Amino acid sequence: MKLEKIVVYSAFIVLLLAFGITSFAQTPRFPRFKVLAFFNKRVEQAHVEFANDAIKFFKELTIGNGFVFDTTSSMADLNDAKLKDYQLVMMLNDFPHNKAQQESFQRYMENGGGWYGFHVAAYNDNGTNWPWLLDFLGGGVFYRNNWPPMPAKLVVDDPNHPVNKGLPATFISPINEWYQWKPSPRERKNIKVLVTLSPDNYPFGLKDIVPDGDFPVVWTNTNYRMIYMNMGHGTRIFSDATQCKLIIDALRWVIEIDKKGNVFLR
Ligand code: ZN
Repeated sequence: MKLEKIVVYSAFIVLLLAFGITSFAQTPRFPRFKVLAFFNKRVEQAHVEFANDAIKFFKELTIGNGFVFDTTSSMADLNDAKLKDYQLVMMLNDFPHNKAQQESFQRYMENGGGWYGFHVAAYNDNGTNWPWLLDFLGGGVFYRNNWPPMPAKLVVDDPNHPVNKGLPATFISPINEWYQWKPSPRERKNIKVLVTLSPDNYPFGLKDIVPDGDFPVVWTNTNYRMIYMNMGHGTRIFSDATQCKLIIDALRWVIEIDKKGNVFLR
């Protein structure tokens, strides 16, 4: 082989190797993150139906091993040893049951853990007696709800927030039982409301009627890596493409703001 040819071939091989190493460095690591979803099979039927649909929906998103979606119906799994492997705790239709679980959850969140809560996950009343949770959720105690469950017109509060990007200014959310909170979490400086029930719905309900008032339905407490979504009742929650986009973008956002780094950029 002539010397020039050897030089050309060698240069080619070096280029190939360099390209290979660079590509390897840029190959995303899969799975990118781990979610642990808590659900309860022994609660209101419509809340069980929602949890079943949610598990199916999120499991389908893991196709390709993009992330791990583990589920448990045992609240005893809410402990430090179990949570340390997860970037997100999802509460589909339940909340911590006892002091040990409450304290473990608080430690997890105060150390940068992620939370995605639906519907009854934020339920609290005068008997809840867990001031930290009330503060975490923005200070709102359950006030009243519409009945029967029905669709609602929702208003997107901040179209530039990553959770809301690409959503229309308003949309009709499928059938849900909607909870109103008092005082409204919006009154807190560290609460960022992302989606609100439109006043166009008032009077809202037939048997139980919400006549008026501020009615946030999706928000985040900016002191934590968390998002709350009031949807979570019955079998229609995942039936609307706009709402599904919101649900996915909320998951993505809570993961990407992790102080340990944005896994989607690796
Ligand atoms: Zn409900």
